[in-house]
Amino acid sequence: MEELALLNLSAKKLEGKVAIVTGGASGIGEATARLFADHGIRAVVIADIQDEKGQKVAESIGSKQCRYFHCNVNDEDQVKAMVKWTVETYGKLDYMFSNAGIVSNSDQTVVDLDLSELDHLFKVNVRGMAACVKHAACAMVERKVKGSIVCTASVAASRGGALRTDYIMAKHAVLGLVRCASRQLGVYGIRVNSVSPSAIATPLTSVTSCQTRAEDIMRVYEPLTSLKGIVLTGKHIADAALFLVSEDSAFITGHDLVVDGGLVCLPGPNHFLANDGTR
Ligand code: NAD
Repeated sequence: MEELALLNLSAKKLEGKVAIVTGGASGIGEATARLFADHGIRAVVIADIQDEKGQKVAESIGSKQCRYFHCNVNDEDQVKAMVKWTVETYGKLDYMFSNAGIVSNSDQTVVDLDLSELDHLFKVNVRGMAACVKHAACAMVERKVKGSIVCTASVAASRGGALRTDYIMAKHAVLGLVRCASRQLGVYGIRVNSVSPSAIATPLTSVTSCQTRAEDIMRVYEPLTSLKGIVLTGKHIADAALFLVSEDSAFITGHDLVVDGGLVCLPGPNHFLANDGTR
């Protein structure tokens, strides 16, 4: 009985907490919003631009614990309004999972770089990420909340690639943001970390590559990773995000948690970003 009670306690890591998950209508964000709810969170706000999908995810989690808020992270005013609404509705903000991101529609090699595509991608993946970190931090500092901010970077944030120059540049910038924010916000007890997935079959991976199914991802990646017989899913990244927001990581800040099955342990700085649309 006692053991059961202990198990139950450890299963509910987020009781009483309030979180925002950007890009929560789909993929990694959706899996994370669901996991936060499973861990007893008081409220998780899904912020996205896919209104119908976002509403459906929120409804399926349940309106007591989850609400959808339309927010284009490109637009600082919308980010500010979304954070303000969350704080006014629930009294505080404990966690920001800044996760919304896109890829460009073309290969974006250096010689063919389409700079207007690059500008658009940076608006979401860098500017949007910075706006979310900024306004979450402001709300936490103002209310004296020792919160936790997690950004979704990528294995692409720490190496070069044959394609996707704009995406890889943007993910490097996310690590810079996390490192600066963690140094500046530590004095308030606010932790800032990133999670860096390798490839997962989500709508994002279907934009530019044929790897829309978990089996395709596994076929390309398994030979490159140390772990065999397992394919990365949104739930694995959600588990990492849960660890990084919760008290389990109380002394961890400025850290990039790579979730890649040992991909980076393999020799060679560039081989994983081959001419197959992988990221
Ligand atoms: P996804 O397409 O399933 O989810 C991304 C979500 O972000 C979508 O719901 C989309 O509507 C939302 N979004 C896009 N632009 C937005 C904007 N301007 N404002 C608000 N929301 C916006 O993709 P995913 O794979 O779950 O991607 C989530 C994050 O993970 C991204 O930052 C991506 O770069 C990163 N990532 C993905 C992979 C992968 O292989 N899938 C690997 C490494 C990193």
